[in-house]
Amino acid sequence: MTSPFSLDRYQKQLEQLAKVVCSVFDAPLAEHSSWKIGGPADLLVEPVTVDQVATVVSFARRYEIPLLVIGQGTNLLFDDAGLRGIVLKLGQKLSRIDIKGNRITAEAGVWVPGLARKAMLAGLSGLEHTIGIPGTLGGLVLMNGGSQRKGVGENVRRVWIVDQQGQQVELSRDECVFSYRQSALQGSGAVVVKTELECARQEPQLIRQLMLEDLRERRHKFPRKQPNCGSVFLSTSEMHASVGPPGRVIEEAGLKGTRIGNAEVSHQHANFIVNLNGATSKDVLNLIAHIRLTVKQRIGFNLCCEVRYVSPAGEIMPAHLATV
Ligand SMILES: Cc1cc2nc3c(=O)[nH]c(=O)nc-3n(C[C@H](O)[C@H](O)[C@H](O)COP(=O)(O)OP(=O)(O)OC[C@H]3O[C@@H](n4cnc5c(N)ncnc54)[C@H](O)[C@@H]3O)c2cc1C
Repeated sequence: MTSPFSLDRYQKQLEQLAKVVCSVFDAPLAEHSSWKIGGPADLLVEPVTVDQVATVVSFARRYEIPLLVIGQGTNLLFDDAGLRGIVLKLGQKLSRIDIKGNRITAEAGVWVPGLARKAMLAGLSGLEHTIGIPGTLGGLVLMNGGSQRKGVGENVRRVWIVDQQGQQVELSRDECVFSYRQSALQGSGAVVVKTELECARQEPQLIRQLMLEDLRERRHKFPRKQPNCGSVFLSTSEMHASVGPPGRVIEEAGLKGTRIGNAEVSHQHANFIVNLNGATSKDVLNLIAHIRLTVKQRIGFNLCCEVRYVSPAGEIMPAHLATV
């Protein structure tokens, strides 16, 4: 089936690619986002090998077709118009894990809570704080995600990427330049395909206890039934020191329960925006703009988004930088 939206200039090339890598035309992006928002992507490909990832990257570059890499879409707001180009999804099909001594080597599509659980069973500590993060390892490494003010970068030893030219490259931890929810991989066009993590030895029972505490706290604090993308706004240590965490700042501005269209500031946690059913990307972006303006007027602070918006042209940016 061909896409009614696809640019004629690359439709034939997409059909060529679909013959060699598992693909879906007109893939509804809402099904690949935890917010359940987003129109169709011209082509969604799910490689099963690193060589296939390199093939897709080289292909997109050769024909100048926009390419977007995703994992579980738990930090992404897709546009209602979808995406004109290729979505490269690294998920279950690229998710092998190998544990040797205190080192874990895992492919980018590995589901993070599953990885944390495997580490626990092997008596390896360090990933406890990731047990409740519902994304892939590739997304986690790129975002230097984590909780309890930690980031996965602390455990990373090496990262294997496919670079913008389609070359497979090995990077050391230092070359990734991890800082709070940041890494040098962001904006570089690199596709993370594999990561080596170093952990410390610990009793599985102790690790399990820490994980259960984390999960209990999340169940208590975060909305679980309504589609969401986790924390919308960044919570830096400077922000904590000056005005407090974003959830508290937004709550104190009286914004809990504020609704635009079908997007609502969660009653449970003010740094979450939930999709009440059928919310559009415009609803979410307008609500983000409203929260930022209210907080700015109230305490003079500029909230910045952790969540990324993807434009129909495949550009990706912190959601507060998107034009509504
Ligand atoms: C309920 C809930 C709770 C959450 N809690 C936390 C939390 O405690 N801490 C936290 O840090 N985050 C949290 N998040 C946000 C999110 O889960 C993380 O940012 C996660 O690491 C994103 O992984 P993903 O696979 O879903 O990436 P996606 O959302 O698919 O993508 C995120 C970014 O990574 C890029 N990307 C994805 N895979 C790759 C790859 N293989 N190579 C290169 N780039 C890639 C994308 O292009 C995009 O820029 C939460 C989300 C939800 C829904």
